[in-house]
Amino acid sequence: MRAPRIVMVKLAEWQGKKVFAKYGVPLPRGDVARTPDEAEGLVRAGKVPLPCVVKAQVLAGGRGKGGAVRFASTPAEVRAAARAILGLDFKGERVKELLLEEKLPIGRELYVAMALDRSQRLPLLMASAQGGVEIESVPDSQIDRQTVDPFPGLTGYEKRRAAAALGLTAAPARSLDRILESLWRIFQEEDAELVEINPLAIVGDGLVALDAKVIIEDDAAFRHPEFAEVRDDRTELEEIAREKEIAFVQLDGNIGVIANGAGLTMATLDVLKELGGAPGVFLDLGGTDDPKKVTEAFLLMARAKPASVFLNIFGGVTRCDTVAKGLVEAMRDVPESERFPLVARIRGNNEKEGTEILRAAGVTSVPDLRESAQAAVDAARGRS
Ligand code: GDP
Ligand code: MN
Repeated sequence: MRAPRIVMVKLAEWQGKKVFAKYGVPLPRGDVARTPDEAEGLVRAGKVPLPCVVKAQVLAGGRGKGGAVRFASTPAEVRAAARAILGLDFKGERVKELLLEEKLPIGRELYVAMALDRSQRLPLLMASAQGGVEIESVPDSQIDRQTVDPFPGLTGYEKRRAAAALGLTAAPARSLDRILESLWRIFQEEDAELVEINPLAIVGDGLVALDAKVIIEDDAAFRHPEFAEVRDDRTELEEIAREKEIAFVQLDGNIGVIANGAGLTMATLDVLKELGGAPGVFLDLGGTDDPKKVTEAFLLMARAKPASVFLNIFGGVTRCDTVAKGLVEAMRDVPESERFPLVARIRGNNEKEGTEILRAAGVTSVPDLRESAQAAVDAARGRS
């Protein structure tokens, strides 16, 4: 079982830079390689000028400090750097792709980002003269923050204030102006929830984006099939669930939870935790009582190998008896070696019939929430 994660469409640096290019953000010249051969080939063919930077394409930050960004000035050094970085396990992610870019003579490193401020429910423009390090380590007082009203969009005033915060005037300030305009357009038109440039480097009297971090709002992912191949960190079972349109999430613990509706599902996890249990998978049946769907969901649950499963269903729209029927059918399909104790609590519409179906199949069915949750916790403890 796995740690919880938030599903978001996070673009790798090179993908983010492709978006940047489309909106006119100045970038170093570069290209992607997947093997040391390819990397060396790029510089030999002059597609990436030397000296260059070889960068691991992983989603985690802190690559600079972590040895996942290297410099090379000959084709042999490029090959060596590529070999050293490819296959690295960087903060739990295997490096499969590299971005090679010309190494620019850079001056100060700045930070700019357009993010979503969820508490104020507005886009937020952030700017800091302390770029090049992870923004979390920059003191709050060193970060200028301005909310942006989406209707007029980013205004001249806001851009000038950001320039001042970054200590830019004249040509670099004009370069910033255009970059912020692009940042704003990307944020809007690509449905981003974060567009971050760190560092935005001073090169001559202009600015160049050395890094790109773009996160697309996952509710808008359907509008962006161009990012469809982007991997996220779903587990294999979560991936299967997604294809079947089943809400299924794997956590750290060993108790499986099947409930219906996000509210009841979350409350069920809380009760199990309060009783000393560790929820390991949860599955939200939503409004489904289609026995076929219930069966599929249940079989998926079985594959996660929970120590016990707690079924907590409230029958409103959903009928308890059809859910129960689906479950009993599914249980027959679970291979002997993957069976687990099942504790059920089903209340509401057709509760009596549902309970009878379950009891007849040998499932413990307890109407009280705490009692039934406790039974699931005890059953899991007995097995692990
Ligand atoms: P991160 O640490 O994962 O955010 O990776 P970055 O892409 O931000 O790179 C880390 C650091 O490498 C930057 O802060 C720069 O100091 C340096 N760097 C990256 N690209 C270049 C480049 O083209 N020229 C120079 N001189 N330094 C670079
Ligand atoms: Mn960076």
